[in-house]
Amino acid sequence: MIDCNNERAGSSAVAHSIGLPTLAMVWRLLLALAMVGLLIHPRAAQAWGAQGHQLVAEYAESRLSAQARAEIDRLLALEPGATLVSISTWADEKRSASTAAWHYLNFPRGADCSYDAAIHCVDGNCVVGSVERQSAILASNAPDAERLKAMKYLVHMVADVHQPLHAGFADDRGGNKFQIQAYGRGTNLHALWDSALIDNWPGGMPALRMAMAAADAERDGDAVVAAQESCRIVSSVGFYPGGRKVGADYEQHWSATLVQRLSTAGARLAVVLESAVAAWQTPAPKN
Ligand SMILES: [Zn+2]
Repeated sequence: MIDCNNERAGSSAVAHSIGLPTLAMVWRLLLALAMVGLLIHPRAAQAWGAQGHQLVAEYAESRLSAQARAEIDRLLALEPGATLVSISTWADEKRSASTAAWHYLNFPRGADCSYDAAIHCVDGNCVVGSVERQSAILASNAPDAERLKAMKYLVHMVADVHQPLHAGFADDRGGNKFQIQAYGRGTNLHALWDSALIDNWPGGMPALRMAMAAADAERDGDAVVAAQESCRIVSSVGFYPGGRKVGADYEQHWSATLVQRLSTAGARLAVVLESAVAAWQTPAPKN
């Protein structure tokens, strides 16, 4: 789902003059700095943006029992300073050709959003398969380092499958190819849902956090349920904005859905983490 758009500076204007930097040299320096910036800050349009992932992780953390929290903190302590929030974007930072498909799945447009692993997740190579695999590893007695890695994937992928356009349609690459105008600039529908709606939330993150806390989050439901729900949202009338323009009316109409998806992702993530921790518990010694 990544569109790379590499622009290269012209190389013909090689400066031979000594002394003050030429415009071409300054341009190359700026370009190099920009590229370093891109490496440090991976494109937000790969998934929920960083804010979305952090909000989901934060919400899940707030719903954990003290016992689960202690066990999860013990695992996180393998990497000093790591928190559920800090690991929530790791899977996007580590994204490669072999793991790119783990972040989404595609349904056929116009069908009924019924998930069939053999069709929509061949060889488990989609977000649903990834959540199922990583959940099993996390709940197992695998070495701590492996379970931590599984948890890093899970905290991310459980959120991804709730981003409606991560279970959208292949023909426009989950909205990546659906160009729109929003907030005074050109963007695409996928990026709008990943980050722009969140970043432009009226009242900022504190207001969005409060809305999530007040939302009627759904705890029940696995990754299959979440994917089917996402597909149904994307299939709803008006999800694809008419006129390719997103204004206040679109924002108002879909804000409750956005809040519900973020909070439900957090609530379900908490359930997944709790059940993994429960699986770790050895039977209590008999008196
Ligand atoms: Zn992702």
